[in-house]
Amino acid sequence: MIFNSEKFSDVLIIGGGVIGLSIARELKRRGIAKITILERGNAGQESSFAAAGMLAPNAETEKADKFTEICTKSLSLYTEFAAELIEETGIDIELDKNGTLYLAFTEEDSKEILHRFEWQKRAGLRVEHLSAQETRRAEPFVSPDVRESLFFPSDWQVENRRLLCALRRYCELNQIEILENAGVARLVCEGERVVGAETENDRHYAEKVVIATGAWTSLIKAESFALPQVKPIRGQMISFQTAKRLFNKVIYSRRGYIVPRADGRILVGATVEDVGFDKNTTQIGIEMLRETGLEISPSLGHLEISEKWAGLRPSSIDGLPILGAMPEAENLLVATGHYRNGILLAPLTARIIAGKIAANENSEYLEIFSPRRFRAAGAI
Ligand SMILES: Cc1cc2nc3c(=O)[nH]c(=O)nc-3n(C[C@H](O)[C@H](O)[C@H](O)COP(=O)(O)OP(=O)(O)OC[C@H]3O[C@@H](n4cnc5c(N)ncnc54)[C@H](O)[C@@H]3O)c2cc1C
Repeated sequence: MIFNSEKFSDVLIIGGGVIGLSIARELKRRGIAKITILERGNAGQESSFAAAGMLAPNAETEKADKFTEICTKSLSLYTEFAAELIEETGIDIELDKNGTLYLAFTEEDSKEILHRFEWQKRAGLRVEHLSAQETRRAEPFVSPDVRESLFFPSDWQVENRRLLCALRRYCELNQIEILENAGVARLVCEGERVVGAETENDRHYAEKVVIATGAWTSLIKAESFALPQVKPIRGQMISFQTAKRLFNKVIYSRRGYIVPRADGRILVGATVEDVGFDKNTTQIGIEMLRETGLEISPSLGHLEISEKWAGLRPSSIDGLPILGAMPEAENLLVATGHYRNGILLAPLTARIIAGKIAANENSEYLEIFSPRRFRAAGAI
């Protein structure tokens, strides 16, 4: 095969979502000179764009384990991350610390949230129990049918589309090359090393290669090994536009959530569907989301849907992130499988992966979430 060109970088990142872009930024901050991002379509337009931007290590937590821990640690980096991005790019990513409410409408809901309240309290997490009256005082537009709620003061949100703009801008300002419409079909291997990647027309070489291709990771080929299995899980969302912000906090029920943005948009999400690489919205999905929104707040019934969209969450076999070097090639690192929490996990993922590449730092999470765990289970 004849390639139009052959190019060299210190680090090649495949995939320009929130994970790839955040890693690129962190590498640059640690002194790596030549970083190239290869992006199949346009950077920042897939799952990371579709997300709701919730930074919620507690509201969705079922147990206090290493996953909750990594989520909580990543959240703790967000204040600094947001402040640095404003300074570096002038873009405010709208980190919003108003907290998250979790509402109960049925007896089943009440049972579930009380169970959550009790174990989270025991585990020392920050959670408060609110009566129906207290809930409505906190959020006057919440349905009068609410029975009670939990308040998670440490579950925040960020405007993920602005975050993507800020990360892109950082790349532009810092000579990180983003090559778009440059889908990688195959990794180039020499012995036990991956030396680069092939797009349709070009060959890109690098000292280190990072796979940050989200839901599409398993489609990339290597000669003698397979990349970890990652499955697309579709999430549909809708939004409404109001002239001014009606809700102060992110609000969950057991059936979905609403996320109020500073500009008056109200996002309602999300479906969880195993339908392959299909990013279409469906009538059933949209109807379900509308009902979820109406249950939380009947006031939404007066509004027209202003936007509907869907994205593909990257889910590994065990639903946990995949971070670190591939067993077959130590200079090939993977950062994917962030499933429902890639926006939340971006700053810490970037530090872990960039720390390993730039300074051989060994975070314990590189062990816990290593791709080797699938090899041991025979499922890679
Ligand atoms: C509806 C919905 C709501 C969500 N809400 C939240 C939330 O509230 N909070 C949260 O933390 N997370 C949320 N998530 C999850 C979050 O969006 C993902 O975990 C995160 O975006 C994953 O980031 P990524 O960079 O790995 O993937 P992506 O953003 O999908 O980026 C991967 C990139 O790789 C590119 N690519 C793929 N294959 C190739 C190839 N062969 N060559 C070159 N480029 C390639 C793709 O084009 C894409 O741009 C949500 C997701 C969805 C769908």
